[in-house]
Amino acid sequence: MSSNLEIVPVNQWFDKELKAPLVIAGPCSAETETQVYQTAQQLSKIEGVQIFRAGVWKPRTRPGNFEGIGLESLEWIKRVKEDFGFYTSVEVATAKHAELALKNGIDILWLGARTTSNPFSVQEIADFLKGTDVPVMVKNPLNPDLALWVGAIERINKAGIKKIAAVHRGFHPFEHTKYRNIPKWELPISLKSMFHELPIIIDPSHIAGRRNLLFEVAQKGLDLNMDGLMVEVHHQPENALSDKEQQITPSDLSEMLQKLAFRRNIATDEFLNELNQFRNQIDSIDTQIIELLHQRLDIVEKIGHLKCKNDVSILQLSRWEKIMETRLEYGKELNISEEFLTKVLQLVHKESIQRQAEAMEDKKKD
Ligand code: PEP
Ligand code: MN
Repeated sequence: MSSNLEIVPVNQWFDKELKAPLVIAGPCSAETETQVYQTAQQLSKIEGVQIFRAGVWKPRTRPGNFEGIGLESLEWIKRVKEDFGFYTSVEVATAKHAELALKNGIDILWLGARTTSNPFSVQEIADFLKGTDVPVMVKNPLNPDLALWVGAIERINKAGIKKIAAVHRGFHPFEHTKYRNIPKWELPISLKSMFHELPIIIDPSHIAGRRNLLFEVAQKGLDLNMDGLMVEVHHQPENALSDKEQQITPSDLSEMLQKLAFRRNIATDEFLNELNQFRNQIDSIDTQIIELLHQRLDIVEKIGHLKCKNDVSILQLSRWEKIMETRLEYGKELNISEEFLTKVLQLVHKESIQRQAEAMEDKKKD
């Protein structure tokens, strides 16, 4: 999967510069004017929170649940922007939503997981956004399909939107898991390695699904060098009309932000030198491991020929058991986990049997 994106860095999105790491906070859903206002007022006192989020149209799995207030609540969010100076963001699932959001002065749009999963919806929104300059955040699709996530980002980018970020909110599990949505960190990491310039924001609220797990998910995201956090915050989470279990109060958020380790990413020369020395050592050791494996397999082939000549079967169980026993014992002395070493030895053994079988075939043909 290769592709190029034209991306404008986050600090150039607006006149007033957004600072890294990006912290986006606000309720899952805008429910009442008071709830939106009070939540925003309390958030405005927390350093680092620059963007206010709220769901206006809520994609609910089953009908009959609270589906958001819609248009009327955009007015409340507008007030938050005027009174507290936040940039504001809402989820849009159709071109009509996008039109109403822009008309009401919303600064940033985001595509929810369900929308990203549907290329028709994404294309419809992308077509509507042509000619605008609004920043768009694209949440990952519900299922762990990297191409679908990339595809949605590309559709938006092809429409001329260069202010783009991805939001990682985890993937829908079929079985019961610790988290509401499985993080599968390898996907955002792959996305980052495809598009180095693309900011990726972690949504620990939707990954964790429960308040007490938010911190560990957020920290993990930051440790993996992700670029910001989107957190669901409600002034009274216990009364929330959606995602009640995962919303936290503004003061919980403030505490969490203070406890999180935002690692400095500016490497000093001294650090880089030391890191490079270690990396050189690893490079050299890996080369030796490969060369030793090569030597081992060469000898294995010779054994194959010898066994063939003497009409002896390939697998000598007692020899294999002896190998495992002695190697694991030595590994234990060197503090190498038995589980890890067993896997490595089994792989080497499997390849050796294969090589011997090939060697015997060749010998028979001679
Ligand atoms: C949300 O952000 O409230 C939301 C509906 O999220 P997602 O699209 O990640 O489920
Ligand atoms: Mn939510």
